[in-house]
Amino acid sequence: SLNRTQIVNWLYRCGDIFTKESDFLTGLDKEIGDADHGMNMHRGFSKVVEKLPSIADKDIGFILKNTGMTLLSNVGGASGPLLGTFFIRAATVTQAHQSLTLEELCEMIREGAEGVLSRGKAEPGDKTMCDVWLPVVDSLRQSSEQHLSVTAALDAASERAEAAARATITMQARKGRASYLGERSIGHQDPGATSVMFMIQMLAAAAK
Ligand code: ADP
Ligand code: MG
Ligand code: MG
Repeated sequence: SLNRTQIVNWLYRCGDIFTKESDFLTGLDKEIGDADHGMNMHRGFSKVVEKLPSIADKDIGFILKNTGMTLLSNVGGASGPLLGTFFIRAATVTQAHQSLTLEELCEMIREGAEGVLSRGKAEPGDKTMCDVWLPVVDSLRQSSEQHLSVTAALDAASERAEAAARATITMQARKGRASYLGERSIGHQDPGATSVMFMIQMLAAAAK
């Protein structure tokens, strides 16, 4: 299972990766957006990390909810409200939890992704972060049915996330700023999808 310390570790790792990959993500957003995605993620998760010491002893639901609120109030772009919603919804199924079984983790991510879908109204193939969330949910569900360990399940989900982020390259954007480009959005990897890939990779690393 995945304990509270590992969830906190996940969020610290997100802080690190979005510092490290900020320029790369902004570069992706420069191609099909307004060149601020890396900065948005970096700002958001730096705030999240700043608040972690004061909430690290709370339950998983509390930590996730606090993370969601922080992203919601500190990230202006489309990604802030969407990822904020992810964590706030994920928090609703992890209240009072000190640890998560694979089934519970799967449910947490499914619920969060559901929140992103209903808030952003993206369909599969619209070239958004949902094109990574959905395959990740599918991968975790399969692993859960096969009774894999959390570690093995998250390794598999990371691989799926990487392939799914890459698969956004050939998609035409139908939501968000990139959709303004029409066919010219084809040929570039979606920044938000790439950030979700990083988040899943960090979760896999924190689970080890
Ligand atoms: P903004 O586009 O406001 O500058 P960001 O650059 O931070 O915000 O985030 C852009 C990312 O947000 C996109 O790459 C895409 O993955 C995601 N996104 C935009 N609109 C939607 C939506 N309706 N549903 C899901 N994801 C979306
Ligand atoms: Mg942008
Ligand atoms: Mg913007």
